[in-house]
Amino acid sequence: DVVIEYRDVRKQYGEFVALAGVNLEVRRGQVVCLIGPSGSGKSTLLRCTNGLETMSSGEVYFDGMPLSKDPRKNRLIRQRMGMVFQNFELFPHKTALGNIMMGPMTVLGLSEEKARTRAEALLAKVGLSEKASNYPANLSGGQQQRVAIARALAMEPEVMLFDEPTSALDPETIGEVLNVMKRLADDGMTMVVVTHEMTFARRVADHVVVFANGQIVEQGRPEQIFDA
Ligand code: ADP
Ligand code: ADP
Repeated sequence: DVVIEYRDVRKQYGEFVALAGVNLEVRRGQVVCLIGPSGSGKSTLLRCTNGLETMSSGEVYFDGMPLSKDPRKNRLIRQRMGMVFQNFELFPHKTALGNIMMGPMTVLGLSEEKARTRAEALLAKVGLSEKASNYPANLSGGQQQRVAIARALAMEPEVMLFDEPTSALDPETIGEVLNVMKRLADDGMTMVVVTHEMTFARRVADHVVVFANGQIVEQGRPEQIFDA
């Protein structure tokens, strides 16, 4: 059961080839980790997945539907994929709870009460119930990232995309974010994760994809990649 399929995805920035023809499948319930050196195209591929970035050529299919070349037309597909960024990107003038409630209210049209109930459950899930009224500035990086994960989950996505979710964190808060991601994986969420956390990739990934120079150079089960 393939959820995301990339077919010969290419991306150029002027003369520079960021993606040189990527073919890949992500199956339902899988955790796929994208690893490889900086600048090898991992983040570009992730951003092509939900139409945040436009491809130069190729196709991405989500549940069998091709993404449009017109970014505005991918709004519905984008809603079905949650995304978590390196730098959290929470709204600074909203509390933790407010950040999580916003999408359900403005995009899904939930009542404030329903959105609050959903947000409170998600804050509990990421272990931050007691921080509901904190603003992002009064949360640690790891706590902000857990709120960002809860905010993405509030839209009830089918797939979660993570773009180096722990790269901007202090070492002591990385583990709490990886634990939340691990639990999400155990719940059966389909996840595509760009990461430099090799222990996470080894323990949690179902499939590891190694990038170099805009191409996939190797892929397989973690033990095939790491124990070779
Ligand atoms: P990775 O995630 O593997 O570190 P990226 O996908 O972020 O790699 O970047 C791939 C390459 O594309 C990098 O060399 C980067 O500098 C380049 N790149 C990314 N975005 C742009 C852009 N908007 N304009 C020009 N070059 C870009
Ligand atoms: P199954 O669930 O069918 O038993 P496994 O997870 O055991 O599949 O994987 C079998 C083989 O298929 C492994 O070599 C694995 O790396 C590969 N594989 C798993 N997921 C993917 C994928 N999304 N794309 C390509 N190959 C994959």
